[in-house]
Amino acid sequence: MMHYVDGNRGASADQPASSEIVGNDSQIADAKKMLPGLAAISSESNNAQLGSAQSSTVLKDRFGRIHQSLRISVTDVCNIRCQYCMPAEGAQFLASERLLSFEQIEEFVRVAVSFGIRRIRLTGGEPLSRPNLHQLVAKLSAIDGVDDLALTTNGTLLAPQLPGLVRAGLRRINLSLDTLSATTFEHISRRKSFQNVLEGLQAALKCPDVEVKLNTLVLRHLNMCEVIDLVTYAREHQVDIRFIEFMPLDASRQWQNSSVVTGHELREIISRRFGPLNRLVDQRSSQPSADYELSDGSLKIGFIDSVSQPFCGACDRLRLTADGQLQNCLFGTEHWPVVQLLQTLPPDRESIGALLQACVSAKHPAHGISDPQFVAPPRAMYQIGG
Ligand code: SAM
Ligand code: SF4
Repeated sequence: MMHYVDGNRGASADQPASSEIVGNDSQIADAKKMLPGLAAISSESNNAQLGSAQSSTVLKDRFGRIHQSLRISVTDVCNIRCQYCMPAEGAQFLASERLLSFEQIEEFVRVAVSFGIRRIRLTGGEPLSRPNLHQLVAKLSAIDGVDDLALTTNGTLLAPQLPGLVRAGLRRINLSLDTLSATTFEHISRRKSFQNVLEGLQAALKCPDVEVKLNTLVLRHLNMCEVIDLVTYAREHQVDIRFIEFMPLDASRQWQNSSVVTGHELREIISRRFGPLNRLVDQRSSQPSADYELSDGSLKIGFIDSVSQPFCGACDRLRLTADGQLQNCLFGTEHWPVVQLLQTLPPDRESIGALLQACVSAKHPAHGISDPQFVAPPRAMYQIGG
C-alpha cells in the first residue's frame, strides 16, 4: 500500500514543503491487479470514452459502499483564519508549483467519472483564492457524467467572480456563514472581510441560476447565541442552512469533545423558538446532513452531526488534496499519491484507476473520533479540503 506521510511542510508559498511519499511502481502494479474491468480505460482510451457516463466499474469498498462523490481541494491557501480550521499565525502553504494544474484535475476527474463518480465539489483552503477558478469549472462542467458540480466558499471573494463562475457552468454554492455580526466574524476569522461575505452572499442569492446553501459552524462561546438569528436570516432569504459540528481538524488542536455543539443541542434551541422540527426522509442516503424543516414548512435546515452521530455507514466520498493526494476519509492518515501519475505524459490512466480502487478498498468502516485511541490526522481542514 502507498502512504503519504506529512513531513516538515514548507514555511511559505515560495519554499516548497517537503513530504515523503512511500509508494513505488510495483505497488501501483499490485493495485492494478486488484482492478477488474481496467480494459475499459486503457491508455489508448480517448477523452470521449473516459467522459462517458456508462461506467462499467464502480468504486465499491469492502463494506459495500459505492463511491460517487469527490471533493477536490484546489488550494490550501485561505485569505481568512477561522479559529476552527487554521492557525492564527504561521500557516504553511504548498508552493504553487506543487498544486495540481487544472488540466491534471480534469484528467483525474475524467478517470474518476469512468469509475462512477458523479458529484464533484470544489473546495480548499479558499477555492476562490486560486486564480481563474472559472476555467476549471468550465472544464469540469463539460464532462459528460458529472451530474453535480458545486463549490464551497467563505464568500469573501465571491461577488466579483460569480458571473464568470456561472457562465462556466457552476450551479451550486455552499457559502460558510457563522455569524451576522462583523465583530463576531472578525473574532472567528481573525480578519475584517465580513462586508465582502455579505456582498458575495447577496450576489449569489440574486442569481437565478445558482442554488445557494449556508454552512454554519457553531462554537459554544462565540456564535451559539446567534443560532436563532441565523435561522431567521435564512428563512427571510429563503436559503437552506446546514449546521456542521466542530470536528478535530483545527490546526491549533484546541478541539475537545466538550467543545462540540451537537446537532441535538441545536435542534432543541431551534425548536424552542420555532416549534417542533419535522424530519425530512426523502433525501439521498449518502448525503452528510440530516434534513429537517420548520413545522410551517418555511425553511429547510440540515444538520451535519459528524461527531455525535457519524454517518460513515453511508459515506460515498473521496477527496483529492491540492497537491494530488487521494484520501478516502477526512480523518484518514493514509494518502494515495496520484500526482506522479498525472505528471506523466500522456497520463497513465490505467494506473490512476488502479490507485482509485486501492484507495477505496482500504477505506475503514468509520472515522472513529469517539474511539479512545483516536488520533487527529496530521493535516488540518484547510489542508485537506472540507
Ligand atoms: N474556505 C471555504 C469555506 O470556508 O467555505 C472552503 C473550505 S472550508 C475547509 C469548508 C468547510 O469546512 C467550511 O464550511 C467550514 O466551516 C468547515 N470547517 C472548517 N474547519 C472545520 C472543523 N474543524 N470542523 C468542522 N467543519 C470545519
Ligand atoms: Fe479558510 Fe474555509 Fe478554513 Fe475558514 S474554514 S480558514 S474560510 S479554509
